Parts: sequence; structure tokens; C-alpha cells
Amino acid sequence: MKGAVLYGPRDVRFEERDTPKIVEPTDAVVRTSATCVCGSDLWPYRGLNPINGPTPMGHEYCGIVEAVGKAVTTIKPGQFVIGSFFASDNTCPHCRAGYQSSCRHREFVGTAQAPLLRVPLADGTLVATPDVPSADLVPSFLAVSDVLGTGWFAAVAANVKPGATVAVAGDGAVGILGVLSAKQMGAGRIIAMSRHATRQKLAREFGATDIVTERGDEAVARIKDLTKGVGADSALECVGTQESMMQAIGSTRPGGSVGYVGVPHGVALDGEKLFYAHVHLHGGPAPVRRFLPELIDLVWKGKINPGKVFDLTLPLNRVAEGYRAMDERRAIKVLLQP
Ligand SMILES: [Zn+2]
Ligand SMILES: [Zn+2]
Repeated sequence: MKGAVLYGPRDVRFEERDTPKIVEPTDAVVRTSATCVCGSDLWPYRGLNPINGPTPMGHEYCGIVEAVGKAVTTIKPGQFVIGSFFASDNTCPHCRAGYQSSCRHREFVGTAQAPLLRVPLADGTLVATPDVPSADLVPSFLAVSDVLGTGWFAAVAANVKPGATVAVAGDGAVGILGVLSAKQMGAGRIIAMSRHATRQKLAREFGATDIVTERGDEAVARIKDLTKGVGADSALECVGTQESMMQAIGSTRPGGSVGYVGVPHGVALDGEKLFYAHVHLHGGPAPVRRFLPELIDLVWKGKINPGKVFDLTLPLNRVAEGYRAMDERRAIKVLLQP
């Protein structure tokens, strides 16, 4: 089997890897129908997160179950399934509280840019669709696996309520699907922060009512202007930089909530500023598993089309080109076909 392996900065290769097989009795092996490049893959790709030697890549996936271990009872070969980047048992106290990405037995699923994938804790991790979906639904189910699940968590963590004013920092796939999520939750006004015409257009399609092109303190000032000096009820932070975190906190009204899902890189919060901001902060690695049944249902019934964030589709053997397109921001998100 051939899959993607990162060797070093801007060096992704499509090369021979071990074919995954059942290791633990709770495992499944999934034949990926589609996989993709994540914004977070760009941190090690750009050399900003060090790697220890050649590293298989990919943590977003959906596909057909090929085999299951002896202890797997609910997942069966032939089913179309969606999982997330952390495998979870879905039974421990943290899972039961809805925080499966903090499962006591969590395992990172990080080899998905390949035709076959081993998924640990299959019963707890994977959710099957009612039937094998048509090909046109596959991109949307793939989006559910991470970017939609993460954008959705940002909106849940930011306590988005019907009629609320929501500000979204970040115009990557997660931010754009954060807009879709806020819209689904009934937000009245959604202010997207973006400077890129194609991303602004998609954000508007998904429900953004206003676009702010400024950054930093100027973005905050602009959002205050747009809200009669009050600020947003909810802000979604979908980047992970100091600037976007401060944009989100600064845009939020006293008593409002910030949902932060960008993996932090060099973010440090000033205690005194935070104290006087008077905002709720909640975030972290999205417990996508909590939302899978609901999001799968919305896609299955055609109520949402998050697969639109994939604006470039490549065969998996051109994975290096996919990383380049995302690194250079020529593509919002790249779908890879095994
Ligand atoms: Zn991802
Ligand atoms: Zn658990």
C-alpha cells in the first residue's frame, strides 16, 4: 500500500507503507473513500512543529469497513463509517461527559492519507451512515470527520444561541464551517473575518452577514462599530495564533463566550486583560465524536453541504501537490482520492 509520508519541511512523499491490519481485538480496518489535508498538517509541513523522522500523515477520513477485530460488536464490514482524529472508547467518564477527545484511552489516528487505515476502539470511535452514501455525499461526510466537527464545537463552546451576533476569526475550512455551524444554531448575525474573495464568498453562502477585512485591534474596532459598540455575543477562534485569539476575545461583549479550536502556537494570555474582558473561554481539541450522529444526520438528509469547502480534488498519489496548494493558500481545502 502507498500513502503519504512527511520527511521534513515541504517534503511530502507518496510511498510504500505497511498495510494496516487488525492489531487489537477492538480495531477496525477502513478502506478510505476520501481523505484530505488539514490546516494543522501545515504546521509540521512548514517545519514549525518538529517531527522525529519520516511520519505518515492524515487524520480525516471516511470509508468502508474492511475488517473488524473479535471484540468489535456494533461496527461491521461493509458499513460506511466516519471517525475522528482521536479514537475513543466512548464509555469512560470523559467520553460520557461529551469530551471524547480527552478519552482516558484516546489514541491519535494519524495515518489516514492512505487507501487503508487502522482505527483503534472501533465501536467507540466510528459511526456508520444509514446506508452506503452516493459519491456526491462523500466530501460532506469527510468534512464531518474534522473540519465541520471542529467548527461545530467552536460554535457550541461559544454558546451560540438563536438570534445571537457571532464573530468568526479565521477563514480556513474550520472558520468557514464555523459560520455554517453558527447559522444552523440560529445566529442572527454572523461576522466573518477574511481578506480573501473566494473565502468571503463561501462564508456568505454558508450564512455570513458581514465581512471584516481588518486584522488585530483594527478588526476588533470594526466589530465594535458593527455592533453599536457592544461586541459579539459569541466569538469563534479558528486559527491558533496570538492575533486571532486576541481578536476573538476583544470582539466579545462582557458576558459573552469565546470558543477556541485553533491549535495554539505561541499563544499567551495576559491575566489582567483576561480579567477585565469578562468573557467565557472554552475550547480545545474538538470532541467530534459527540457531534457525529447529529452531523451525519444533517448531511444524510441534505440539510447542509459542508463538502463545499473542498475546492481542489486530487488523486492521492499527488498528495505533495495538495500540501503545496494549501501551504500557498491557493486552495481552501484539498480532498484526496485514494
Ligand atoms: Zn484536521
Ligand atoms: Zn473514553
